[in-house]
Amino acid sequence: PPSIVWFRQDLRIADQAAFARAAADGPLVAVYVLDDESPGDWRIGGAQRWWLHHSLASLSASLKALGGRLVLRRGRAADELFRLAQEVGAARVHCLAHYEPWWRAAEAELGERLELVRHQGRLLADPARVRTGSGTPFRVFAPFWRALQAIMPPAPPLPAPAEVLWHRQDLAGDDLRDWDLLPTKPDWATGFREWAPGEDGARSALHVFETGIEDYGERRNLPSTAGTSRLSPHLHFGEISPSTVWHTLAEERGAGPYLRELAWRDFCSALILQFPDYADADGRATLEGLPWRDGPEAQADFIAWTRGRTGYPIVDAGMRQLWHTGWMHNRVRMITASFLVKHLLIDWRRGQRWFWDCLVDADFSHNSVNWQWVAGTGVDSAPFYRIMAPLTQSAKFNAAGYIRHWVPELAELGDDQIHDPHGTRAAPADYPAALIGHREARERALAASASTRR
Ligand code: FAD
Repeated sequence: PPSIVWFRQDLRIADQAAFARAAADGPLVAVYVLDDESPGDWRIGGAQRWWLHHSLASLSASLKALGGRLVLRRGRAADELFRLAQEVGAARVHCLAHYEPWWRAAEAELGERLELVRHQGRLLADPARVRTGSGTPFRVFAPFWRALQAIMPPAPPLPAPAEVLWHRQDLAGDDLRDWDLLPTKPDWATGFREWAPGEDGARSALHVFETGIEDYGERRNLPSTAGTSRLSPHLHFGEISPSTVWHTLAEERGAGPYLRELAWRDFCSALILQFPDYADADGRATLEGLPWRDGPEAQADFIAWTRGRTGYPIVDAGMRQLWHTGWMHNRVRMITASFLVKHLLIDWRRGQRWFWDCLVDADFSHNSVNWQWVAGTGVDSAPFYRIMAPLTQSAKFNAAGYIRHWVPELAELGDDQIHDPHGTRAAPADYPAALIGHREARERALAASASTRR
């Protein structure tokens, strides 16, 4: 009987253990199920649908070149997989282990109905192997990273199977074009063309980055330069494996700081495994009673934030970059998130959801863990009352070029004015007034947080 390879956020043929093992086993059927049901509120967001469309097209082409095809089905994944197994008479499904709560539930359910073989490959290491001395999972990054390093390097990447024996049966499958995954809003996604979704695009992004890795430690915080790898959407969709990234870069000079960032992916999954409701519930329950602003004025502020019209240039530049390209520089993600939560005193969960819909790299664990980290609610974060100063951050990390690019109204301003055009009385008439002054915002946030202290 054939076996089934179930593709999810692992849309590649190289170093794909589920695919490699199934190919070694005998005839196989490859399937991707578009499941908007199991994840509930966390179904794939708008920007990622665009990415998914192109990534699936790329994987389909790779499988076709190997003489087979990718069967596309839509519905509740566990049911669709079971149905397909019955159709083809398969008893075994190979997949890579995933850690989102709905995927774990789907894996458990399938495991009861047929033989599910879970392989490793989403992370650098199986989370079960990264434990404290007493065998418990970590909640703090630094010791997690030490323990992870002790079991590195990851297993060397597996080559893509050279030959595959396909199960020959005329199976029904959807046409990708009928899934309507591409964006419809006219001004959205204008910068998505910069991306090259798919396994080849992931490899070339890695090789481009490899030439500049030496400066990563120094440049990773500077939004005006292309100092980071921009591998995040490729890694999210599994178009390249973390092991491939590790083995390609580890010997390069200056790789240390980069590999440490890469380990954050593993850490985020480790937290989600311990706190499956981390996307909705405060990690420390310290701010559960915080009087978040809510109502028409807060709603208007929220909309101004999403559109990049807050009157804070660095925040506006970041939010516009997000809307147009589906990605935002990490330093600016921290600044814009902090601005929403502390300056505007709007619940972090609202910002997290906006990011979920707009990011091409939106990831359940990374997004939740990082939002909670910024908000000060995370198990591993600084307290709420540590408030980032956006104007100072903008100058410190030299964001002038970045602001000129994304906020063209300010393009003519000099370096001494562009970070704070209102304070330096240089703001042109078409640039929005600041939603709130920094000092006033700080006092409001501190008062709100004091009111929750027991
Ligand atoms: P690089 O600096 O080149 O880093 C290499 C890789 O390491 C990244 O591709 C990513 O996979 C991983 N990584 C780096 N930093 C982090 C981190 N803090 N947490 C987890 N993984 C990390 N990243 C996402 O992939 N998806 C998200 O939904 C997401 N939401 C975020 C929300 C907020 C509020 C913040 C502050 C950060 C968020 N991040 C998220 C983390 C980080 O901003 C991005 O991973 C990074 O900007 C991606 O760009 P890059 O690939 O050039 O990063």
